[in-house]
Amino acid sequence: MQVDVAAAYAELTSRLADLGADGVRVVGVTKAHGPWAVQAACDAGITAVGENYAQEVRDKAEVLAAVRASGVEVHFIGGLQTNKVRMVAGRVDVIQSVDRTSLIDEIARRDAGIAVMVQVHHGGETNKAGCAPAEVHDLVEHALQRGLDVLGLMAVGPTDGDRGATEAAFTATRALADRLGLPECSMGMSNDLDIAVACGTTMVRVGTALFGAR
Ligand SMILES: *Cc1c(COP(=O)(O)O)cnc(C)c1O
Repeated sequence: MQVDVAAAYAELTSRLADLGADGVRVVGVTKAHGPWAVQAACDAGITAVGENYAQEVRDKAEVLAAVRASGVEVHFIGGLQTNKVRMVAGRVDVIQSVDRTSLIDEIARRDAGIAVMVQVHHGGETNKAGCAPAEVHDLVEHALQRGLDVLGLMAVGPTDGDRGATEAAFTATRALADRLGLPECSMGMSNDLDIAVACGTTMVRVGTALFGAR
């Protein structure tokens, strides 16, 4: 069922204002929704949309190009296999999910100078997307050397609902970005954006609260 995205965005905007987050950008996560969601985001005045899957970026190429032409940014926020960078190249404005040197090299080869963010994970799970905090500095340096425009860091909080762990992860991410002199921190989703705002996010990635359940 398609929801009223404009109404949901108005509600989200006022929720963010109540949290004192007026300058925080909203990336509307349109993954697993059809092209309608991308168009609805654009019509509602959302200035950036996020996609998670390379194939979906390719399949939605037409609507993504149309909204980019009207000034909406497209952010890639999902795990990205190196051999799928070609499906994303030229179709997005920012790749937020950069977490290894091989991926940086392929992105630089296919989409010179594109804006990226380094995804970091806090907490021990090595199966999770994102690099370890100790790797962030070298990855940022590598991306800069390859000519990429490094905007900042991206983090996905723990998804088990542990608010203390989420706060710790977001606080550590913001501190790391500050230490590296990086302005942007993409953290916070529908269920933890209040914590992200308190920890200094500059960009929340919101899917469910804008477009409904997937
Ligand atoms: C799906 C997803 C989101 C949006 O999650 P919601 O809970 O629907 O708001 C944000 N960031 C990433 C990386 C995602 O995969």
